[in-house]
Order: sequence, then structure tokens, then C-alpha cells
Amino acid sequence: VSAPAAGTAARAARASLELEQLELDAMIVDAPFDLRYLTGFTGSNGLALLMAGQSSSSRPNLFLTDFRYTAQSAEEVDPAFERSTIAGELRDAVPALLEGSGRLGFDETKLTVRAHRRLAEQMPEGWELVACAGLVERLRLVKEPGEVELIAAACELADAALQEILEQGLVGRTERRVALALEQRMRELGAEQPSFPSIVAAAEHGALPHAQPRDVEIGGDVLVTIDWGAQLAGYCSDCTRTFATGEGISEQAREIYELVLAAQLAGLDALRPGRSGREVDAVARAVIEQGGQGEHFGHGLGHGVGLEVHEGPRLSRTASDAPLEEGNVVTVEPGVYLPDALGVRIEDLVVMRSDGPEVLTRLSKDLAVIS
Ligand code: ZN
Ligand code: ZN
Repeated sequence: VSAPAAGTAARAARASLELEQLELDAMIVDAPFDLRYLTGFTGSNGLALLMAGQSSSSRPNLFLTDFRYTAQSAEEVDPAFERSTIAGELRDAVPALLEGSGRLGFDETKLTVRAHRRLAEQMPEGWELVACAGLVERLRLVKEPGEVELIAAACELADAALQEILEQGLVGRTERRVALALEQRMRELGAEQPSFPSIVAAAEHGALPHAQPRDVEIGGDVLVTIDWGAQLAGYCSDCTRTFATGEGISEQAREIYELVLAAQLAGLDALRPGRSGREVDAVARAVIEQGGQGEHFGHGLGHGVGLEVHEGPRLSRTASDAPLEEGNVVTVEPGVYLPDALGVRIEDLVVMRSDGPEVLTRLSKDLAVIS
């Protein structure tokens, strides 16, 4: 079995095959990340009308945009799509492009009720609208080697940026200053942007998993959680480390740190193709439960990362039974959050190989003192 060819043309061909299996004749793709994945287009207003089959006799895939993006789409959009520039709402142009009769797929998680009604009213005789959410997202779950390379490069860049920021110390700087410096450094090193707003949360503020950096100076002898990522050529990285700002942190803080680290390592160890995200979550969660902190680990163990910083597959108590696969890129990020006291989260981003995870985020996980 040869690996599928990389590139957007091969992706569109795979998507077309999926359409056939769902007995769809065409599908509207206009969610930005799905559209970028299939066509290469990075603008904010584009629509692909993907056709089933793609044999020599079938109709070509179409790409629609407005005049602002005519030049950009000529550069970016894969030649597997026939391009047109449209005035007005792109979706309104679709019904006139449909020939004969058939079934038109749309992503019901992305279309508003109003937009769906409008489309349904315009559909030509003999055409039916069919919900088929997740079709492109499913293709995105398994990364091509080129995608993994970009994610690995984003991880390396983010690691380097944080290391430089830590050299300047943490104590006496505000959470906001550290976050800004980190984001600026990532851009200087070549990131398009941070892949999400950086989290820098010290002491009791670390008990909020999604803490916003405050204008509050970081003190000594506390824990500081930093969750950050870089975006490179559209692909994201995601990593968390928790540091101590002095040797004088509490015994409880040390214990929680070691517990979270043990859970994180157990989670990594449990990652194998064929296991489900729910099973892997359960392995790491059991470690935290045995440490008596189960109620303080309220989120899932991890999530997929790619063009989006949060995508499938999920590693959580409510994740599907679908087996994880070689080529999935997921985080492993257990945390323990003690309200009004402290928080610890340790997160790696890994790519699933045939024999287990390859860790892409390389900074040490031994509790480091950064004062
Ligand atoms: Zn993160
Ligand atoms: Zn994450």
C-alpha cells in the first residue's frame, strides 16, 4: 500500500470518493479550515463545490470567491478546481451550478438555520440537500508527512521562544508582560501568529485552566503555568509547562506537580494506534484519581491539532470509540486545579506512529526553578 500523495489535489480526490460512498453528487465546502485543507485558499470568503467521483466524465470541482480574492485564489487554489469570481453571496450562486438531479451535501454544523432555509428555497427541482458534517474534518484527522513537518517546526519554534523568555526570569514581571514577550518572540522567529492567546498564570490564578494573563507581578516560590503555541504555514503547535519560581514552593505544590507528570507520562505510554481516545484518557485519569485529585481534573486529556488548534480526535471521557490512527496529531495534557491555591498542567504535542507517540514538544518536564 502506497502512502496517499500529499497536496490539495489528492485531498480533493479523497473527499470526492467519500462523497460517492455517501451517495452524494456534490458538496458545499465553505468552512475556512476545511476549504484551506481542500483547495489551499487562505482568504476569508471562498466556497468549493466538490463533485463526486472525479472520473474523466464527471464535472470538475468548482471554486467561487469574490473580486477581492481573484488574484489570491489564482495563486493559491489548486488547479483541480475551476475558479470563478462571483458578485454577492457565494452560496446563492450554487443552485444555478447544479445540473440534472442529485444530492447536495452541506455541513449542518456550520450553516445557520436562516442560511439553510435560503439555500433550500433556491435548490433546483430534483436536487436534495443532505447534511454531511465532518466529511472533510475526518480527512484532516490523519496528517500527511508534510503536515507533520510543519507542526513539528511550529513546536520547535515555540520551544525556542519560551526558552529565551525564561532566560529573562519570571519573578517581578507581570503575567501579561511575559505573555506579550513570548508572543512577540514567536513572531520574530517566523511564526505567523500565536496559535491561540498565550496563558501565563501564576499561583492561585493557575487554578483556572483558561486563565487570562493579568497585570499582576509574578511572585517568588509559586507555580507558573504557561500554555502557548505558534502558527506556521497555517499549522499550529500547542504546549504547556509549569515552572516553580523558587525552591520554597509548598510540599503540596511539589506533590501535585509529580502527580500530574506521572499522569502525563502514563497517558503518553498508553497512546497506541487502535486504542480509543476514551481509553487513553482513562489511563491518565486513573493516575490522578489514585492520587486523590480526580475531582480537580475537570477537562479531557487531549485534542487533535492541525490547521486548528482544537480539532479531532479528542482524548476524553466523552470521546468516541473510534480507534486512534497512525498520523493523528494529539496533545496529552492532564492538569490538577486546586481552587484559590494553585494549578499544574503539563502538555505535549505528539504524532502517532505505528509503535506509539513521537513527542514533538521537547522542553524538559522536570520541575524547573525559574526565578
Ligand atoms: Zn495548550
Ligand atoms: Zn491543548
